[in-house]
Amino acid sequence: MRRQLTLMSSLLLAPAAAVLANGLDAGQVLNQVGTTLGGQSATSIEFAGAGSSYALGQQGTVNAAWPRFNDQSHVRTVSFDPWASRLQRVRTQGENPPSGGGGQPIIGEQKQDQVTAPGTPNAAALPTELAATLPQAFVRAASQAKDLSATQEGKRVVLEFTAPNNAKVRGWVNDKHQIERVTAAVAHPVLGDAVYDTTFTDYRSFDGVQFPAHILQKQGGFPVLDLTVNSVKLNVPVEFPAAAPASTPKLASEKLGEGIYLITGGYAAVAVEFKDHITVIEAGQNDERSNAVISEVKRLLPGKPIGELVNTHAHFDHAGGVRAYVAEGATIVTHRNNPQYYEKLWANSYTLSPDRLAQQPKPPRFQPVDDKLVLTDGKQTIELYRLRNFAHHDGNLVAWLPREKILVEADGFNPPPAPLTQTPEKISPFHVSLLQNIERLQLDVQRIIPIHLPADNRKVTLAELLTATGKNQVSAAR
Ligand SMILES: [Zn+2]
Repeated sequence: MRRQLTLMSSLLLAPAAAVLANGLDAGQVLNQVGTTLGGQSATSIEFAGAGSSYALGQQGTVNAAWPRFNDQSHVRTVSFDPWASRLQRVRTQGENPPSGGGGQPIIGEQKQDQVTAPGTPNAAALPTELAATLPQAFVRAASQAKDLSATQEGKRVVLEFTAPNNAKVRGWVNDKHQIERVTAAVAHPVLGDAVYDTTFTDYRSFDGVQFPAHILQKQGGFPVLDLTVNSVKLNVPVEFPAAAPASTPKLASEKLGEGIYLITGGYAAVAVEFKDHITVIEAGQNDERSNAVISEVKRLLPGKPIGELVNTHAHFDHAGGVRAYVAEGATIVTHRNNPQYYEKLWANSYTLSPDRLAQQPKPPRFQPVDDKLVLTDGKQTIELYRLRNFAHHDGNLVAWLPREKILVEADGFNPPPAPLTQTPEKISPFHVSLLQNIERLQLDVQRIIPIHLPADNRKVTLAELLTATGKNQVSAAR
C-alpha cells in the first residue's frame, strides 16, 4: 500500500517535473513580473521625465553617434486597448555647434506632439516599439502573444514572444521579477530589421507601480533616448487628437530643361537624360517613393536604363530609397565617405518588411565622389560638388546643372512654407555654409531645387537664400 502511494505521488509529480526540466513556465514568470510591476489592469499609463533624445540616422559625420537634443520635458501617454501613444515634449538644441540633422539648429524651444494611433502609418509596429520602451507595455504585449516562452540565462529569465509586426521581442527578467532589458525590431528603410535595445534601471515605486527611473534606449547601435523618469500615472484620461489622414502628396513632374525633369510629390527627384542612360538625382525616403519615381522617370524618358542614382548624403531620410536603385541596376554616385557605411548597414536582415532589394538581392555598385565629379556625355552635364564646412553632414553633395543654372541641394536650405520676406533673427549656419559654397564655386544660380521642396512647389531663387542669410548679394569668390 505504501509502495503504491509513493508510486502514485511520483506519477502525480511528473508533469510539474517535466515543466521544470524544460526550464520554466513562461506564463507564471510573466504573471510574477506583472504582479511585481503593477498596472496590469490599467487602461493607460503616462510617464514623464527629462533627458536626451537623439535623431536616428541624422549624424553630422558618417559612423558617428546620432545627434543629441535636450528633452526638457518628455511626456509619453500610452493606451493599451487599443494600442495608441502620444509623445509630447519640448526639445532644445543639444549639439553645440550644430552637427547633423533632425531639425537642427533648434532656435529656442521646440514643442513636439506625436500621436501614433490605429490608422496611422506606424500603428502595426506600435506594440513592439512600446514593449521596448516601458516595462508595463512589455507585460501587456507578452500577455497577448500566442507563443510566449521562457528560458534561463544565467541569473535571468528571458521571456520571448512574437509581436504583431512579426518581430521577436525578448525581455530579460531579474530575480526581483523586474524587466532589465528588452530587445525588439521594427522595419526601417535603411536599417532593415532595426533593433531597439533598451535597459531599464533604478526601479522605484511611483503611484503604486514599479517603474524604472532610468530608461536608456538604443537603435542602430547608438542611443535614441536617455530619460530620467520623475512621474508615472495610471489610468490617465487619454486624449488622442484625431490622426490626420495620411495624405501622400500627388506625384507630378515639371520640365526644367532639355531632357531634365523635376519630380515632386515627396522628396524632390531630378531625372537627367544622357545619350545612353538616365541619371536620377536623389532617391528620397523609402522604397515606395523610389519605385513611384522610377515609374515616372520611365514614363517621361522611355527606352533608356536608369544608369546612375546621385545620393546627396547618408541621412536616413535621404538614403531610405537608395536600395531600390541598387535593385534597378543603377550605380550609386555618392561622396566617398558613404559607400562603406551603406555596405555595412545593408548587411543587416530585412525580413520584417522585405524591400525590392531584399526580394531581388544584388551587390551594390558605387561611384565615389571626392570634392568634384562631372557627369557628361558632351551634351548633357551634371557637376557634383561636395559642400565644404557643412556641419549638417560631412559627405554632402550638391548637383549643378550648368546650362539651366539650377542647383539641386539637400538640407543646405530648406525653405519655409511661404517665401521668406525678411531675415530670421537667428541665421542657420547651414544656410550660411550653402551660400559660401555657391560663392566659392562661383555658381550663377538662377533657381534652387531643394530636395525638401516647400509645399507650394514654388520656384526658389537665390534671392530667398540671400534673405535667409541676411545678405543683399553674393560676395566675390572666397
Ligand atoms: Zn540631412
